[in-house]
Amino acid sequence: MSREQLVVQLARRSFQTGKTKPLEYRIHQLKSLLRFISERRKDIADAVKRDLGKSENGTELFETLGLEGEIKLAIEKLAEWAAPRPVEQNLLTILDEVYVQPEPLGVVLIIGAWNYPWAVTLQPLVGAIAAGNAAVIKPSEVSAHSAKVMEELLPQYLDKDLYPVVTGGVSETQELLKQRFDHIFYTGNCTVGKLVMEAAARHLTPVTLELGGKSPCYIDKNCDINVACRRITWGKFVNCGQTCIAPDFILCEPCIQSQVVEEIQKCIKEFYTDNPETFEDYGRIINQRHFKRLMALMEGSTVAVGGDSDESHCYIAPTVLKDVTGESKVMKEEIFGPLLPIITVSGIDEAIQFINEREKPLVIYIFSNDNKLIKRVIAETSSGALLANDCLVHFTVSALPFGGVGNSGMGCYHGRHSFDQLSHLRSCLIKQLKMEGVNSIWARFLLLKQVNV
Ligand code: NAD
Repeated sequence: MSREQLVVQLARRSFQTGKTKPLEYRIHQLKSLLRFISERRKDIADAVKRDLGKSENGTELFETLGLEGEIKLAIEKLAEWAAPRPVEQNLLTILDEVYVQPEPLGVVLIIGAWNYPWAVTLQPLVGAIAAGNAAVIKPSEVSAHSAKVMEELLPQYLDKDLYPVVTGGVSETQELLKQRFDHIFYTGNCTVGKLVMEAAARHLTPVTLELGGKSPCYIDKNCDINVACRRITWGKFVNCGQTCIAPDFILCEPCIQSQVVEEIQKCIKEFYTDNPETFEDYGRIINQRHFKRLMALMEGSTVAVGGDSDESHCYIAPTVLKDVTGESKVMKEEIFGPLLPIITVSGIDEAIQFINEREKPLVIYIFSNDNKLIKRVIAETSSGALLANDCLVHFTVSALPFGGVGNSGMGCYHGRHSFDQLSHLRSCLIKQLKMEGVNSIWARFLLLKQVNV
C-alpha cells in the first residue's frame, strides 16, 4: 500500500469514528491552528523568505493576517453556520418541519499552490475543519521550504490522522488523486485543474478549482489617473506579480498611455526605490523555470519602464510594456510576474469587446469616477469578481465568495462560503404520522387545484 493510500485510509477511518461531528471538537482544532500560526510565525516567515524572498512584514500582511481572521471568524460563527436552516414552506408542508442541515462531506483533499503557500493551502483547511471534515493537505513542492515547515510543524498542533500533510511533487499528487475523496479543493493553473477534475470524475468527487487567468484593468481617461496608477502599481507588483488576482494588463485610450506609464514609473520608484533589486520588500521570481518563462514573454514588446533582470537570483524589475496588442506574446498566457502590458483601445466599447472575446477572468478591474460606466461593465461582462477603483482588496472581505467562473475556476470560499462549499447541504422534511385523513384530503385537494407544490 502506498504512503498516500495509507494516509487517506487513516483519515477516513478517523472521520468515520464521528470525532469531527461535535462543534467543540472543530473549535478546538481551529484554536490549535490559530495557536500554530501565532507560535510559529517566525518559522513561517523564514520559510516564505527562502521560497519567495518576501519580507517578514509581507508574509504577515499577505499570508497570516487573513488566515488568522478567517479562523477567528469560523470560531465565532460556527454554531450559526452549522445550525439547521429553516426554509420557506409551501401549503402542502405548512405543518411540517422543513430545513437544511449542513453536514460534513467526509475526507477532503486540499492541493495548494506556491505563490502564497500558507494562505492558499490553509484557508481551505479552515473551511474543511469548520465543516467537520477530515482533510489531506498537499502543499506545493515548488515552495519547498514552506511545505517542509508545514509537514514538520502542523502535526504538532492538529490531529495527525484527520489532517495529515503529504509533501511531494507531481507523482505524489497523482497518487493522491487516484484515491477516493469526498471533495477536492485545488488551487493552481488551468492545465493541472483539468487533470484534477478528470481524476475526480472517476470517483464522482466534486471539486473546487481556484484557478488563474488574465485579469484586465480598464482605466477611464476621466478618472484621477495618479490615484488609479498608485493602486494598480501596488496590486500588480506585490509578491513580484505572482498573485492570482493581480491586474494582468491595462486597457486604456491612447491619449492617456504616456501619463499612465509616467505615473506608474513614479509609484514604482516611491514603493521600491530607484533600485528594487536591493529593496527588502521587493521579492523574487519563484524559480528559474518561471524566470525564463517571463523573460520569453517580454520578447517583441516595447519596454517603457524597468525590463532589467538577473537570472542568478531570479530578479526581474517591475516592468511596464507599452503599445502591446492582443496578438503579442505577453498576451497569450497569464503573466504571473512583474510585467504590466498596456493595450490601447478606443474606449469602453472596445475594452468590453476585448474582454468578452477572451476567457472569463478571475477579476475585472475598472478605474473610473463614473458609476454608470462601472455598472455597465458589471452588466456587460462576466468574471469571478469585479473591483472598481482598487486592487486585490476584495480578497479580504470574508462575506464575498472568492472564486472564478469558466476558465478561472469553479466553486468559491472564504468565511461562510468555505463552510458551505465543504458541507453537504442536506434537505430535511419531517412530517408527523398523525392526521392521515386530513392529510390525504388536503394533499389531493391541492393537487387537483394544481397548486404549484
Ligand atoms: P503549482 O506548480 O504549485 O501547482 C499547484 C499544485 O498542483 C501543486 O501542489 C502541485 O504538486 C500540483 N501539480 C502540479 N502538476 C501536477 C500534475 N501534473 N498532476 C497533479 N498535480 C500536479 O502551482 P501553479 O499551478 O504554478 O500556480 C500558479 C497558478 O495558480 C496561477 O495560474 C495562479 O493564477 C493560480 N492561483 C490561483 C489562486 C486562486 O485562488 N484562484 C491562488 C493562487 C494561485
